[in-house]
Amino acid sequence: MKIVDVKARVFSWKGETVPPQANFCTNPSMMLFDKSDSMGSFRFHSWLVCEVTTDTGLVGLGNCALAPDVAKVVIDNHLTPLVLGENPWDYNYIWERMYRRTMAWGRKGVGMAAISAVDLAIWDILGKAAGVPVYQLLGGRTKSAIPVYASKLYSQDLKSLADEAQSYLDQGFSMMKMRFGWGPLDGVEGMKKNIALVETVREVVGDDVDLMLECYMGWNLEYARRMLPKLAKFEPRWIEEPVIPDDLEGYRELKRMGHMPISGGEHEFTLRGFQPFLDQRAVDVIQYDTNRVGGITAARKVNALAEAFGVPVIPHAGQMHNYHLVMSDLNCPIAEYFPVHSVEIGNELFYYLFDGDPTPVNGHLQLDDDQPGLGLTLSTQHLDQFEVSA
Ligand code: MG
Repeated sequence: MKIVDVKARVFSWKGETVPPQANFCTNPSMMLFDKSDSMGSFRFHSWLVCEVTTDTGLVGLGNCALAPDVAKVVIDNHLTPLVLGENPWDYNYIWERMYRRTMAWGRKGVGMAAISAVDLAIWDILGKAAGVPVYQLLGGRTKSAIPVYASKLYSQDLKSLADEAQSYLDQGFSMMKMRFGWGPLDGVEGMKKNIALVETVREVVGDDVDLMLECYMGWNLEYARRMLPKLAKFEPRWIEEPVIPDDLEGYRELKRMGHMPISGGEHEFTLRGFQPFLDQRAVDVIQYDTNRVGGITAARKVNALAEAFGVPVIPHAGQMHNYHLVMSDLNCPIAEYFPVHSVEIGNELFYYLFDGDPTPVNGHLQLDDDQPGLGLTLSTQHLDQFEVSA
């Protein structure tokens, strides 16, 4: 079997979007005095789809969502020539070839997202060639179904926040994640507003629900040092990306403080990227996203190292590439699930682009034993709402 074609296309949403309200989620721009575009990093309104074709007629489907227009150029100009003619079963070699030939600029960020998209398409081919779901190639089932947490609860007025939390309870979720709205430049008043958000949700869901808190890189160490003791009484399962991904020392210090488990890694890449976080005991939960970290080929190495350190891996985002890894690894206890919603911040675009993502029932979702590969197909239903690149 040989790879004979690689096609990378960018799907840009042209339909209506719900503009995020002010302070709907903390983010790295919180530290800048000009907040006029503080939601800028949330506008994920396009997605890269990578199709890899073999001489046996199989088509593998991969994707990534970080700066997809740039990822397309990386795939077209730099990665495609490296994988054409290769046997997809040589996936370790193909991955190293892509990694090493782009080493000077591709190790992290959008270069690695592009490598991830190609790698995912290759794993989709392998599942289809073997006639089995990808999780069976990764070790098979470790759970009868995947427990998932509802991940939304953006900062909003307290009444609608309470209603949204109640709706997840009603749907059978026993775990959910919420966002903060204020950061270091918002002072004590912002701190009180952040605490009110958590207080509201905790009051609705009671003590028997796992509650996770998301900072999305919007705080700094000093602010987090002040906030975590105030939030400890709500007993969150974790607090996520409290500081920027490059602040390894900040992660270490917050973890050492011991107020609550610290999670991170949504914006970290490859085995080498995660090694210091594990080695220096800087996180309690690892949250790579398979379509950024280097695809399944890289993710399974991170999984092995995390297991050795006793740190669970709970990938960022739902989506099939993450679910197959979670299903096949005992050290991945649960997965994230973005409740289906109108297009607002871009996470939802996945549902508009692909068919095949499972819907949770009572807070659990199931993967189909009889669906070869990743189990995704391109959806035609909403295609007219996307502008598609060549
Ligand atoms: Mg996150």
